[in-house]
Amino acid sequence: MKRRIGILVLALMLILSLNVFAEKADRYEQVFDASQDAGKLTARFLQLTTRSDDKSGDCTILTSPDGKVMVIDAGNPSTFVDVDNALKALGITRIDYLVASHPHVDHIGSFAQLIYAYEIGAVYTSEIEYPTSHYRRYMEAIESTNTPHIILAEGDSFKFGSDVLVEVLHPAKGIEYFEGYPDGSTQFINNRSLVMKLTYKDSSFLFTGDIYTAAEREIVARYEDKLKADVLKVPHHGDSTSSSRPLRTTVDPQIAVMMHDAIADLRIYRNYSNAGAATYITSIDGAVMVSTEGDGEYTVISQFDRVNDFLD
Ligand SMILES: [Zn+2]
Repeated sequence: MKRRIGILVLALMLILSLNVFAEKADRYEQVFDASQDAGKLTARFLQLTTRSDDKSGDCTILTSPDGKVMVIDAGNPSTFVDVDNALKALGITRIDYLVASHPHVDHIGSFAQLIYAYEIGAVYTSEIEYPTSHYRRYMEAIESTNTPHIILAEGDSFKFGSDVLVEVLHPAKGIEYFEGYPDGSTQFINNRSLVMKLTYKDSSFLFTGDIYTAAEREIVARYEDKLKADVLKVPHHGDSTSSSRPLRTTVDPQIAVMMHDAIADLRIYRNYSNAGAATYITSIDGAVMVSTEGDGEYTVISQFDRVNDFLD
């Protein structure tokens, strides 16, 4: 009997030492701790969990050094709870800049709910119109709450708080719809996502929505080195429709973040990672916080640790 207990104890120790039952560390509270945000430009890339057939989508919450709030995209409607929880954890009640990269449901799905639940400074979109029920619902929300609606196009720029410059690099003004629009318009709309560069002193972030390689080619040709940015929101959730070599080498990010329910394409992940970028996928790493004082140096906190090395 004693011997059997001894063996059981040994087995238990072995199991514990293998961390089989070890709880996965969860740094959600650290990622969404706003107490150190003053004086920094901080981006929090959310891990959204879809509760519908639509993919969860993108949502990034940014805070300026002087405490203004920008939300770029806000997942499909079923992810509103994730966006709402993150905003609440950060103590945010007002969104000064609510930005839609483009009007697909995985980017604007939660907009109507956000507009009704939060005080909104203004909604910023490209001029593209997309007659779907989700789109109409958020346009109705803008109207019925008298929220200012600002249309952005290439060449526009504005200040995010007093210290951060936002430059709109794409799309150009004057969208020409093809005949039969919006049937078969997925690529057309994705390629007209807002591309915005945020600069705070020596630090920079590039947000690319869901552009494909066609739009990447255009902006690389138009801007060349001006596209360079330390932190890249990887286009189209890390899918192989996007992240062409010219884009990757021109932006040359230190940090690349993909928001996705899974992994869109492992090769795209490796392309960034092998080029030396610290590369994150929200499906694996959870929410990711990237923060800078404007000196080109970044603090990154991801919600989860990697439990194996299959991404290496
Ligand atoms: Zn998308």
